Amino acid sequence: MDRGRRRGGMIPLLALHALSEYWRLDRKPPVTAGLIAANTLIYLRPGYLDRILPTLNEVWFNPHLILKHKDLKRFILSAFYHIGDSHLVYNMLSLLWKGIQLESSMGSVEYTSMIATLVGMSQGITLLLAKSLLLFNYERAYYNEYAVGFSGVLFAMKVVLYSQSDNYTYVHGIMVPSRYAAWAELILIQMFVPGVSFLGHLGGILAGLLYLQLRSSYSGPHPFTRIIRGLTSILRWPLQSLLGMFRFTRRRIYGGGTVGGSRPRHISGVWRCQACTFDNSDWLSVCEMCGTHRDGGLSTIDALSLSNDLTLDELRQRRVQSGFSKLPCILFQLVMKVGHKLLSSSLKSFFWGTGTSEGIPRVSCLTDPIKKCPVCSKAVEPGNKNRRLNTSLLIRVPRQSGNCNILIDAGKFFYHSALKWFPTYGIRTIDAVIITHSHADAIGGLDDLRDWTNNVQPNVPIYTAERDFEVMKKTHYYLVDTSSIIPGAAVSDLQFNIIHEKPFIVNDLQFTPLPVWHGRNYRSLGFRFGKICYISDVSEIPEETYPLLEDCELLIMDALRPDRSSSTHFGLPKALEEVRKIQPKRTLFTGMMHLMDHDTVNEGLIKLKETEGLDVQLSYDGLCVPVNL
Ligand SMILES: [Zn+2]
Ligand SMILES: [Zn+2]
Ligand SMILES: [Zn+2]
Ligand SMILES: [Zn+2]
Repeated sequence: MDRGRRRGGMIPLLALHALSEYWRLDRKPPVTAGLIAANTLIYLRPGYLDRILPTLNEVWFNPHLILKHKDLKRFILSAFYHIGDSHLVYNMLSLLWKGIQLESSMGSVEYTSMIATLVGMSQGITLLLAKSLLLFNYERAYYNEYAVGFSGVLFAMKVVLYSQSDNYTYVHGIMVPSRYAAWAELILIQMFVPGVSFLGHLGGILAGLLYLQLRSSYSGPHPFTRIIRGLTSILRWPLQSLLGMFRFTRRRIYGGGTVGGSRPRHISGVWRCQACTFDNSDWLSVCEMCGTHRDGGLSTIDALSLSNDLTLDELRQRRVQSGFSKLPCILFQLVMKVGHKLLSSSLKSFFWGTGTSEGIPRVSCLTDPIKKCPVCSKAVEPGNKNRRLNTSLLIRVPRQSGNCNILIDAGKFFYHSALKWFPTYGIRTIDAVIITHSHADAIGGLDDLRDWTNNVQPNVPIYTAERDFEVMKKTHYYLVDTSSIIPGAAVSDLQFNIIHEKPFIVNDLQFTPLPVWHGRNYRSLGFRFGKICYISDVSEIPEETYPLLEDCELLIMDALRPDRSSSTHFGLPKALEEVRKIQPKRTLFTGMMHLMDHDTVNEGLIKLKETEGLDVQLSYDGLCVPVNL
């Protein structure tokens, strides 16, 4: 081991970055943090570890040596060794980004077993590939390749992460479906960067695919999960105290879109590079780290491809070539970024429900003896994006004192959405409910708020228009006029606040009502907060509302069916017409009925991006969108 060289100079940057990422998270994924710490310690080799850890020369991944000596140490440990500061730091930044998403969505136990499996499988497949190349008289990969590093596993993680994504992502300037991003990256890196371990990366991708295959053919928890559960129950006490520090929780993948979502997360003042996930200052239009353009295209200076899996020398070379060799600048960026994150953090919108009033699947479609409804039959599958409950949005606003959760509408299926998404996203309180209108799919769940007012918080403030309050006086008379309640009965304690058609403040966040028609002579309200406009029930937008929709970044709008509008809701053609008129940066449709197949409609909509530059997609239950205010 080359101990003479000064190493670790870039580690503080890694630490800063990891800390700032973790700072923002409600739940801190402990295993990802542990993996990064372990890799870093192995690399730094402090005195006590130096004595017990094998040297780099003893762990290079070389197929010939591994098979000849049945060398398990080489086989496993080579994934955890790195050859230079940048090699380590770039791999760990990539691990940080992928690990946080995967661990948060699948839970720490399942995640641990997945990582263990992926390490074994990616190394194993690489070995098999090298061995089988011998059959074609290709000996170099078998005898002469020496590789270390976590990038094989990172390729596998990428495959898993993007497997459920319907999004498109840019790989070095080329738009590809996210699920093929790893392949595109593999090929592009190989074309432009000689010397990287093609087999190692390919092995990683195949391991990811094999893992997904095994997971889907085997329902129930991962086989390793049971072993790990057994181990954790033995080690309960020390583990619990450790995990307690990170508020350890299990979560599951539902819907999964943002779990592999490839959209850059926006923090104001910073944009996240789509290629290498580095957070750049808004001042820059080209990624400081890899030269990719802010909009995802290649920079003209750096026409060569880059990835988060490149090694020290490749990255250094590239940065010298493109004139980005500015370590002090990167340090400055990081310090600025940490400072910025301490001062602000991102607001998130969660789509609690995206379906029409009756919910999808329809019971009648499932019991129809003659006709099979294609959408409802798909919607039965758990996690399918056609499964939709009543339209509702939860806005999570980060505050110094903890997150503040504002719900728009609590309809008939509120309990079912809440049951699914509150635990998944680690949300507990409901700090306010804002009502769009008084149909059952918007207020039918008010009674279920009793669980919160009895067990979580003293009361729930409701913000509603006068006309809807009048309706609630009848439909929910016992919640409005509590004198009718038998003493001791534990109904919801709701505090009604009447809103008018002008801006109002809820927990320091300003909401502007967007009055619209929802059927003839029936008013419904949309709401604007920051540059986000939410209009879930609309058949016509009155002229005076358009000015309130100007300069909109994200429009969330009603689109009931693909062919035509109904008397109370926009159909897709009308909704698109409105999008062209309002010109938001991005649109997500909601309130879809069973004639809207998620994948089919989205495939059609994605084409509008090329032809008209419209960024429009259907939303789905459980989708989480980080937003700028
Ligand atoms: Zn970048
Ligand atoms: Zn409706
Ligand atoms: Zn149906
Ligand atoms: Zn309605």
